[in-house]
Amino acid sequence: MHKLALLLALPLVAQTAPVPDKFFFDTGKVRVLILTGRNNHEWRVTNPFLREVLQNSGRFDVRVTEEPSGLTAETLRPYDVLISNYCGPRWGVQAEKAVADFVNGGKGLVVVHAGSYPFGETAVLSEHMGRTGVYQAPWHEWGLMVGATWSDAEPKTGHGPRDAFEVVFQDRQHPVTAGLGERFVTSDELYRNFRLKPGIHVLAQGRDKPLIWTIAYGKGRVFHTALGHDLDAMHTPGFIATYARGTEWAATGAVTLPARIDTDSKDANAVRVLLVTGGHDHESSFYGVFEKWRDVRVNVDPHPVPFRSDMRPKYDVLVLYDTLQLEQLSDKARQNLKDFAEAGKGILVLHHAIADFSAWEWWWKEVVGGRYVLKAEPGYPASKYLHDVELVVTPKPGHAITKGLPQMRLFDETYKQVWHRPDVQVLLTGEHPTSDVELGWVSPYTKSRVVYLQPGHGRESHELPWFRTLVHRTILWTAGR
Ligand SMILES: [Zn+2]
Ligand SMILES: [Zn+2]
Repeated sequence: MHKLALLLALPLVAQTAPVPDKFFFDTGKVRVLILTGRNNHEWRVTNPFLREVLQNSGRFDVRVTEEPSGLTAETLRPYDVLISNYCGPRWGVQAEKAVADFVNGGKGLVVVHAGSYPFGETAVLSEHMGRTGVYQAPWHEWGLMVGATWSDAEPKTGHGPRDAFEVVFQDRQHPVTAGLGERFVTSDELYRNFRLKPGIHVLAQGRDKPLIWTIAYGKGRVFHTALGHDLDAMHTPGFIATYARGTEWAATGAVTLPARIDTDSKDANAVRVLLVTGGHDHESSFYGVFEKWRDVRVNVDPHPVPFRSDMRPKYDVLVLYDTLQLEQLSDKARQNLKDFAEAGKGILVLHHAIADFSAWEWWWKEVVGGRYVLKAEPGYPASKYLHDVELVVTPKPGHAITKGLPQMRLFDETYKQVWHRPDVQVLLTGEHPTSDVELGWVSPYTKSRVVYLQPGHGRESHELPWFRTLVHRTILWTAGR
């Protein structure tokens, strides 16, 4: 067939029919588009934080564009609010008109820190606090939307050295500031000598300089904060609260978010984990495994101090990533560990913790169901290890911990001749000449739920989502969740 005829035969209707947004956005959430990609500030570092604060609050569905110059009325249509974390050259007539029409038509705009700088009469700024020396014709509507512009004429708009100061609320009844108290302390750049536009409503000042304000643009709502120079400034609870609540207000005209926006909130009924390290070195990346889960709260207590008091009231699950021998435990510590194991709790023995307590047969034979044999004994040949092995690990189906997990490639340490009971329920198997086949199991111990997972030596496993999922699921399962 002729090429042209082939093209004409394509069903054009199918290509142009609009697909409803509901298939791509969370229902009931405020739709946010963050504009960035050029900034004299470290936008590659700050933008993920600006996004995460909103996303983690549960109120927003957030997208990011690093090329705002490509915006059109059509690409902006699904959104409720735009956030500018942008300071760079102009976007061009089409994108600028689309943004102005978006706000003018009744949507929201949030401007963060240097977002007030561009499109005025000052020179375009470049990456890493650089200057281009290039001047572009001003885009006056942006200044009207933001409520202020910068000027190089005296008194010059700018800031002194970054330092700590108080931000004092001027209007404590506004939806954004209500319930936030009188003031907060931050360490930031304090912008001064803005050329303010009529109609701004100041919500907060620092050393009597207006920093946070709102302004109407057509039917739209604009929230401006001069704060947020870098991640240190952004981590201030006062910045987070005003930024997140200001975004909700700009989008909807109301605020439902709490006064304190927790950036790492844990569920009220999160599983309480005691993580025990010590006796064996490891990379710090190990702690990253436990940081982000909302349903698990982890305390680290390294040797020689854990087990010194009764762990039963405080913890649901014990995670061992230590290597310790029985003679290093006091009688009281042994008893506390025994009490915990017999109390119907959860125990996860990770990687080198399989070498714990060789002289405590009850521990390795009854509780863990296996042992790394440090020195050969009659009936127990010595176990061996090898670092930096690439191996394939296969999860065994039929258990909640491994359900649906794929076969994985690991770069880890392998163990060989680790003794284990014949009646453990195997969770993972590995294929490598230097490795045992059984790489993880559920112990037959009945008084608590006990699991051993062999992988986890170094960063290559600690940072692997598959490994983190395995540890997460094991903690939840041993806690009875
Ligand atoms: Zn700055
Ligand atoms: Zn190791």
